[in-house]
Amino acid sequence: MTVVQEAMPRMVSRVIPVDPFDLVIFGGTGDLARRKILPGLFRRYCAGQMPPTSRIIGAARTDLDVAGYRQMVAEAITEFSDPTPPTDKLDAFLAQVCYVAIDAKGESGWAELQQLTEGADRVEAYYFSVAPTLFGDLAERLQLWGMAGDEARIVVEKPFGRDLATAKALNGTLAKYFNEKQIYRIDHYLGKETVQNLMAVRFGNMLFEPLWNAQYVDHIQITVAETVGVGGRGEYYDKSGAMRDMVQNHLMQLLCLIAMEPPARFDPDAVRDEKLKVIRALDPVLPHHIMRGQYAAEIGNEVQQPSYREAVGDPRSKTESFIALKTHISNWRWAGTPFYMRTGKRMSARSSEITVVFKETPHSIFGEEAGKHRNVLSIRLQPNEGITLGVTIKEPGPGGMRLIDVPLDMSFAEALGGDIEQVDAYERLIMDVIRGNQTLFMRGDEVEAAWAWTDPIIHGWEARGEVPKPYDSGSDGTTDSHELMRRDGRKWREVKP
Ligand code: NAP
Repeated sequence: MTVVQEAMPRMVSRVIPVDPFDLVIFGGTGDLARRKILPGLFRRYCAGQMPPTSRIIGAARTDLDVAGYRQMVAEAITEFSDPTPPTDKLDAFLAQVCYVAIDAKGESGWAELQQLTEGADRVEAYYFSVAPTLFGDLAERLQLWGMAGDEARIVVEKPFGRDLATAKALNGTLAKYFNEKQIYRIDHYLGKETVQNLMAVRFGNMLFEPLWNAQYVDHIQITVAETVGVGGRGEYYDKSGAMRDMVQNHLMQLLCLIAMEPPARFDPDAVRDEKLKVIRALDPVLPHHIMRGQYAAEIGNEVQQPSYREAVGDPRSKTESFIALKTHISNWRWAGTPFYMRTGKRMSARSSEITVVFKETPHSIFGEEAGKHRNVLSIRLQPNEGITLGVTIKEPGPGGMRLIDVPLDMSFAEALGGDIEQVDAYERLIMDVIRGNQTLFMRGDEVEAAWAWTDPIIHGWEARGEVPKPYDSGSDGTTDSHELMRRDGRKWREVKP
């Protein structure tokens, strides 16, 4: 049953150009810049959001001239965004791109960068798309060279620390040179359309909010499943694992948005204050409420896929590529409602979904034979962003009053007539940096609170010497993660593409 098609007018997204800017991308030759940042900027340019006087300044150690860097940017765009970009658009965009060879840890290149950006009357943004070990060096040099004025903004990538102590140290270092209003900590999950829609659905409709509490909600599930393994990132990933790489940031942010109180206004600090309260109200996780796994080798296909331990090159690795856990939020709204979260690599499908499972009706007028039914609201982040509400209706036909559950499906792309422009999370977030809107960026205290919750969980399994259990590639995780649900009389949603 599709409800929206006729009712919804066709819509064309409005593009509001941002103010002219200089965006310096430290790490401008790296993987993230080539795959996401530069192609994203090109798409914003094509959409008319990037003023023609803006400049993108790549900065890295590699010795390139401007023509060489433009060539690299063009290749990144054709490889990761559009294999055949319109030549006139591409040329015009590249004319706004330049490059400075610079060393974050040394002195070379800084005078040139200063000269390039000096006196420009425009928004100045510095994207730290480099290893976090360089964040402090970059911040210090930006200040030394007079580029850390009150209006300058820095964008920092994850991982933001690997525990509370390192996150605090990093916050402390950045705070020496920039104030909190200048620091944009990226969690690209927050840039996804549906994540923002989650707030619109919750706080823009009368329908959901009155039911959004422990009285009516049985439980909430958050699943972020990937089909890929660790790939070439094995060495990095093995030092991190699913808890640090996914739960502490992405899943925690989703949990905050689903559980937070309505902020008084949709402004950065009002929203982030409410998210912070959720993190601080999270219960510690009991050892038997957390399950960790490592994917096994996949045999049988033409190309044999290595196991997690083979992929990271450590036959004794204790790092998890899958995690499932149950937690509670100790506040009036949520007391007694469990939140289940799971994430993993090499799972059966690529899918990110938040599911709100409502309680059964207190009494069924249809008798026992009608069975038990409950509403399920599922919010899909990827693929095919959209929202589905499962409702109970009468089974059509002459068979008497038999009940079935059907989805009221709202695929955003379909509902909005297909004219809506798909904007990648990075594109949206970079435009927000230029606009000076921090709503979708993590504040320093949020990051620290998230680590303060995560640290004892990690220390717990380290102290107990726990080893993750193997799970089949292409499955939905470890057997005991299903047991976690079964014990509570519940089950995970199927991971569907
Ligand atoms: P990468 O491919 O290794 O690129 C690192 C960049 O840093 C290169 O451009 C490198 O260029 C530059 N660099 C290294 N040392 C430098 C120095 N001393 N001075 C100036 N530039 C230096 O890494 P990445 O994958 O792009 O990741 C960048 C950041 O984004 C990391 O913090 C990572 O955790 C984060 N991140 C990446 C992804 C992703 O999908 N790649 C996703 C989320 C977060 P030169 O060698 O030319 O100097």
